[in-house]
Order: sequence, then C-alpha cells, then structure tokens
Amino acid sequence: METDVLNFIGGEHRPAASGEWLDNVEPATGEIYGRISRSGSEDVEAAVAAARKAFPAWRAWEPADRRAVMMRLADKIHENTAMLAEAEARDSGKPVSLAAMVDIPRAEDNLRFYGSAAEQFSSESHAMGNGTVNYTLRKPLGVVACISPWNLPLYLFTWKIAPALASGNCILAKPSEVTPMTAYLLSKWIKESGFPDGVFNVLHGLGPEVGQAMVEHHHVRAISFTGGSSTGAAISATAGPKFKKLSLELGGKNATVVFDDANFDTAVSTAIRAAYSNQGQICLCGSRILVQENIYERFRDAMVAKVSKMRIGDPMNPETKMGAVVSRAHRDKVISAINIARGEGGQILCGGGRYQPAEPRIKGGFFVQPTLIEGLDHTCVTNREEIFGPVATIQPFKDEREALGLVNATKYGLSASVWTQDVQRAHRFAAGIDTGMVWINCWLVRDLRTPFGGTRQSGVGREGGYNSMRFFTEPQNVCVKI
Ligand code: NAD
Repeated sequence: METDVLNFIGGEHRPAASGEWLDNVEPATGEIYGRISRSGSEDVEAAVAAARKAFPAWRAWEPADRRAVMMRLADKIHENTAMLAEAEARDSGKPVSLAAMVDIPRAEDNLRFYGSAAEQFSSESHAMGNGTVNYTLRKPLGVVACISPWNLPLYLFTWKIAPALASGNCILAKPSEVTPMTAYLLSKWIKESGFPDGVFNVLHGLGPEVGQAMVEHHHVRAISFTGGSSTGAAISATAGPKFKKLSLELGGKNATVVFDDANFDTAVSTAIRAAYSNQGQICLCGSRILVQENIYERFRDAMVAKVSKMRIGDPMNPETKMGAVVSRAHRDKVISAINIARGEGGQILCGGGRYQPAEPRIKGGFFVQPTLIEGLDHTCVTNREEIFGPVATIQPFKDEREALGLVNATKYGLSASVWTQDVQRAHRFAAGIDTGMVWINCWLVRDLRTPFGGTRQSGVGREGGYNSMRFFTEPQNVCVKI
C-alpha cells in the first residue's frame, strides 16, 4: 500500500522542497497511516515554472488530442475503480460502497465529460447591419490553480482540473491535505496518459502554506476553489487586489421543504439521504428539514424510526452505509455544534453524540451518531451556521409564505429541495428561493451541463458545462469590417 504522498511537478514525483511531511490519518481508526509532502512557495515556484514552459505547446494542441489524453486518464480511473474506492474510504472515512458507486465513477465522468467539451466548446459571433462582424476568441488563461476540499476528494478534484485542462490551461492542483491520497494516485497516470510534462502539476500540503502561495503567485491567472466560506473570503482578499479570476464554491445550509401533498414515503427516505449521506459532509446536504404542520408529527416520527436504525460501521466493509467523519478536529466541531443546539433548547430526537464502535479495528475512529433535532427556530445558531456533519434539524411551517421565509433565512444560498405534487406551487416556490440550485421532488440529481454554484455566502460564479470552460478562458472580441 502507498504511504508517502508526493508532489507531481514538471512530470516528476518528488517530496516537498523543504523535506517536511504531514501525518496522514485514517479517520476510521484514528491511526497515522502515511505521510504527506508539506509543500510551500519553493514547490509552487517550481510548478509555475514547469507550467509556463509547457503552456505554449499545450495551448496549440488540437482539441481532439487534448480529449484523447483526458480519455486515457479516465480509462485509468475506470480500470482502477476498486483500488481508488478503497483508497478514498481509508483516507476520508466514507463507506467504500459510496466511493465505489459515486465518487470514483463521477471522477471518471468528469474527465470524459470535459474531454468531450474540449471538442465541442464554441464561441459567439455578432454580425452588425453595416457589414461588420464581431467574433469572440476564447483563449486559455495560462497557469491556473485548482484547490479542492476533503468531502468528495477525487470527485471535486477532477471537477476542477478537467475543464481547466480541456480549455488548454496548465494547472497547479491542490487536493485537501486531509484527503490527498486519490489525487496522488491519479498523478501516477498523468505521464503515461500522454500529458506533456508541466501541463498537470499536483501539489500537496496545508492551505495557508502551499495553497496561499498558489493564490498569491503573480503568474497564476485564475483560482477555482471549493471549500469553506471563510477560506473563500481569505482567498478573495489575496486574489482580488491582484485581479485574478475567481470561482468560489463555498458552504451551504440547505433546506428540504416538504408540503403536505408530497409523496410521503419518498420524501422521508430522500430527506434522510439528503441529511446524512457521506456522514452529512456534502455541501448540498439538506440539514434543515421544514415540514408542513399538518403532516409534521407523522413525518418526524417516520424519520426518527429510520434514522435511529442507521448503522455506523467500518468504512472498509462493503456493507457499511455510514462511516467516520473526516478527522478528530471535525468530529469535535460537530459534537460541539450538537451541544450548542442543546444549549439553545433543541430536543435531540435521536443520536446526539459520539459513537463508540465495538469492532477492535475502528475503536479509535472518529464517529458521530446520526442526529435529528427539533424545537429550534431559524434564529438559532444551529439553523444558521453550517455544521457539515450527520446533524439535521426539523421544523414545522404553516404555509408556503412561511416556508419561503424560513428557506431564505440564512446567509447561505447553495441549494434547496422541495417536495410537493402541486406543479404550480413547485415552480412558484422554486423561483422565490434565493439559492443557486433547486431540486423538486428529488435531491442531488446532477446533469453536468447545468450551472452549479451558490449565491451570497455560498459562493461566486458557476461551474458545470460551458460555465467552467468560460471561466478558464479569456474572451477576446475581434471586430472585422468586411
Ligand atoms: P477548507 O476551506 O478548509 O479547505 C478547502 C481547500 O482549501 C483545501 O485544499 C485547503 O488546503 C485549502 N486552503 C485552506 N486555506 C487556504 C488558503 N488560505 N489559501 C489557499 N487554499 C487554502 O474546506 P474543507 O474543510 O476542506 O471543506 C469543507 C467545506 O467545503 C464546507 O464548508 C463545504 O460546504 C464546502 N464545500 C462546498 C462545495 C460547493 O460546491 N459549494 C462542495 C464541497 C464542499
């Protein structure tokens, strides 16, 4: 098994220039199982130099050739799905079944989707009445940075690097230091897939060290970042005055809204999936469940009955549906949020604390019981701040007007999920929600062509489809008098 996570710079694997390492911890056991290169500005300099050297040739590649190397890398992911899923589960604490069914196949899809986009991307032309035509060139930016979080490690890493490469940029990519393993494993196939040296560089280490150096570097023209809102603010503060392009995909505090005419059973099971999938560590998780008052008690009881039966287990066991949260620090943060909810007067309907497994291998792991809380209104910290763990609240509402007020009563604006059979109401309600994405009678159904992103504290800009290709290119208008 791989233990040392190395940088990949200019076509070579190497440790950080400083020679320093960080511990890599397995969340399910609490044990250190490897080392991560602790990179800094020297490594960023080397990667930028390699990327700049590679750019003139890479940008001139035919789109079909870029597509071909991206498809070869996707093939590698496909051939190694089981190995990558195991590595992801060990590194992040998520169930191996989830990684094998969702994370790794989606990483492959990201590369295939944007590999195809390389060939299909197009730009505009505007003809004027006076015999003049404008056409828009879309030029790659040059060297760009892709910074991703720990909750969907390879899935979100590839979601950023794929459009950046497809549109002809050279990249510095940094996975989270909490879950770097699958990005490292991917980096082992970059060269053999046919990427020229320097086009695709992967750097490991801490955000405020190597991440900050990437954001600051004057040759880095754009930063695509997914992570917490406060990190997004710090990145903006550095990159804004340097006029770098920024795409920020940040936190959420999403609502699941259930009207009394919803398909009850499907709404219950999907509200549970939306709240607790990946131990509640998905930015799109529905952590505020709002239920119309005349079905509230029945809905709540049905949820409690099911959530109480959810089994936590070893992420490496294929039967496990709920694993560990990502780190000791994160476990403590989630437990402290549950205690804040108690202090605010919330009643814990199920869960409410740490889970101590009996299995010897995972005795020291970071586990939290799936927790459902009632009795808190929208002014409580619990309903305002992102917890990002297996913790949800449930609240009743009277009518559409009150529900809309509650949905929009946070500083975040990422997504919402609405459950009703009334077509008129569904569309009217969706239009009133101030989030970047709304699901009606479903949750987390993804078409990769659609705009993905949030409003307010949930981010700036949209990714997905041509949005990402546009972000990673500079438009240049050329006006021709014929
Ligand atoms: P984080 O902000 O702590 O870290 C994200 C990445 O940024 C990591 O790679 C980290 O090393 C790096 N980083 C940290 N400080 C930096 C700095 N000063 N300069 C440059 N890089 C820096 O987030 P996290 O804890 O890894 O992830 C959880 C958060 O991500 C949650 O808030 C979640 O909602 C959010 N998220 C959002 C989306 C979305 O699409 N909107 C998707 C997934 C996760």
